[in-house]
Amino acid sequence: MNRYTEKVLASVHEKNSHEKEFIQAVDEVLKSIAPMVEKNPNFEATSLLERLVEPERIISFRVPWVDDNGKVQVNRGFRVQFNGAIGPYKGGLRFHPSVNQSIMKFLAFEQIFKNALTGLPIGGGKGGSDFDPKGKSDNEIMRFCQSFMNELQRHIGHNLDVPAGDIGVGGREIGYLFGQYRKIKNQYEAGVLTGKGLEYGGSLARKEATGFGLIYFMREMLEANNLNLKDKITTISGSGNVAIYAAQKAVEYGAKVVAMSDSNGCIYDENGIDLDEIKRLKEVERLRIKEYLTKHPNAKYMENIKGETPKVYTIKADIVLPCATQNDINLETAKLLVENGTIAVGEGANMPTTIEAIDYLIEHKVLLAPAKAANAGGVATSALEMSQNSMRYSWSFEEVDEKLNEIMTNIFKACKETSKEYNLGINYVASANIAGFKKVAHAMMAQGII
Ligand code: NDP
Repeated sequence: MNRYTEKVLASVHEKNSHEKEFIQAVDEVLKSIAPMVEKNPNFEATSLLERLVEPERIISFRVPWVDDNGKVQVNRGFRVQFNGAIGPYKGGLRFHPSVNQSIMKFLAFEQIFKNALTGLPIGGGKGGSDFDPKGKSDNEIMRFCQSFMNELQRHIGHNLDVPAGDIGVGGREIGYLFGQYRKIKNQYEAGVLTGKGLEYGGSLARKEATGFGLIYFMREMLEANNLNLKDKITTISGSGNVAIYAAQKAVEYGAKVVAMSDSNGCIYDENGIDLDEIKRLKEVERLRIKEYLTKHPNAKYMENIKGETPKVYTIKADIVLPCATQNDINLETAKLLVENGTIAVGEGANMPTTIEAIDYLIEHKVLLAPAKAANAGGVATSALEMSQNSMRYSWSFEEVDEKLNEIMTNIFKACKETSKEYNLGINYVASANIAGFKKVAHAMMAQGII
């Protein structure tokens, strides 16, 4: 690493010492872009990196709401508008008890480069709340979303900041959020949120986009290394939006998905997972994954043990798709994957692999499809939803899916070319970081010191 990058990194560690996830995300990016920074002395002259690691704005607010027992509950809401150099801030909302400023900042920071990689005009942002949707009634979810939007509405807009879903925020929550925004603003600003229902401005294929996109990227990465998905035993961490549609597309390409999980544990079905049943359990009934056994008594359920490797990673698989949460794969788990002969890991989740685990996997020649590139299909299709909203027109499922496929293919191409330029071999993590950073850096330089 060069001296300037080292200096900025040291300052990030010092100033944000209590934000471990944010530090981890910055460490990964700054270390990999160092060779490009070295070639461009202008970056140091204009303090580009210091500006890059400081959010343009962080909004933190109180979210009071009344539960079904008439008791007042108070949660904390966030929106981090990290970088708007190439377009309106864009990034999801996460509702999960673990949400804090560090997690919001890491997600918003990663979003900058991911959005740049899509080739579409969107800046980086992220938001959410430490609200836990698990076990809440529909009415409680609605009241929470309305209260959250009472404050958020001051800070978003179709040309300013366009949130979408993430963990704990799906079509139902986006509907309640959009309804409250429309009520307060008294106008139909369809492009203010993405992931909307099809009846009110949503895009076909948005729901499927992150998972499908992950598999399109995997297809390209495998092909570039003379491999493919056919007959590959595949395991997936998570059983939410990204996991479900990654599974669907992987099966379409001939892979055999044998395991999926939730935060409690994982199911293993050696005949291949019955995805319709997973969709019913997770998208409709909102039940725990172990209920899969009711219809499939021959499948196995393994409960996670706190502090131990999540059970889904203990199953031998050719392809492993972490589609749940950050830091799901640590060094110990990475070693297990290598021991089990895994050939590729596709990051559907954001930052699911620790830095040590990434290094270990790449050193052991496991192909790693990095989150910023591989899961960019969701936000890319969100941007396509914004385009359709501006045109007051909708494309067919096939049209959107084709554009998504093309975007993911181009993202892999950019990673491959960058990898060649910087002699990075199969280190697509570094090449995705450099390719995304290049565009943001040029836009920031062109816009002066702001
Ligand atoms: P969902 O809420 O639909 O599903 C999340 C899944 O991950 C659930 O199975 C959940 O299990 C599991 N999970 C969540 N937190 C944890 C945890 N702490 N430990 C173990 N398992 C956990 O979210 P999405 O599918 O939308 O998001 C999954 C990942 O993909 C996230 O990292 C998100 O940032 C990323 N992503 C999502 C995009 C999108 O378009 N939705 C776009 C790009 C990235 P349980 O139900 O038990 O909590």
